[in-house]
Amino acid sequence: MAPIKVIKTLEKIRTRFFWGGDLESRKMPWIAWEKVLAAKERGGLRIGSLKAHNIALLGKWWWKFKSYPDSTWAEVWSLESSGVYSVASLRIHIDTTILPISECRWSWNYLIPGKLNILAWRICHGKLPSMVNLLKLGISLSNLCKMCNGAPETEEHVFVDCPVAHEVWQQIAKKGSRVTIG
Ligand SMILES: [Zn+2]
Repeated sequence: MAPIKVIKTLEKIRTRFFWGGDLESRKMPWIAWEKVLAAKERGGLRIGSLKAHNIALLGKWWWKFKSYPDSTWAEVWSLESSGVYSVASLRIHIDTTILPISECRWSWNYLIPGKLNILAWRICHGKLPSMVNLLKLGISLSNLCKMCNGAPETEEHVFVDCPVAHEVWQQIAKKGSRVTIG
């Protein structure tokens, strides 16, 4: 079993890597790391916790030790339909038990790049560095949209309500229809 201090240090390194920092510099983590680790059905990105992975790997040894071909132990594993132990099945089970459920209902789209999926996931959580969020953190002095100066800059405003966003969507729609006709 890895010591909890080691697990915490490794998770800290993964957090910094995920949010774009390195060992020396730190960028602001916009969403709690536990939420990032959680399963996609629970609003996370299904990265999985190192704690669960560590226990699941140890469980593999336990399972091998107990699993003789003719013993009933070989039949105990219920987390896999095949009945055969897998690290992934126990890791997911532990993470489902220990990690939080997010209010954000969101699903990964495999047709678009991972970066855009993560952007959509952050929008779903309301955790972009919008003026409203920066003001809440005391980083900005105004919550107004920098593009139109007409309304508080929320995720919904930037992507839907802002007149500049409207113009961008219209341009995209025009180009799309031109491609279809051409
Ligand atoms: Zn605006």
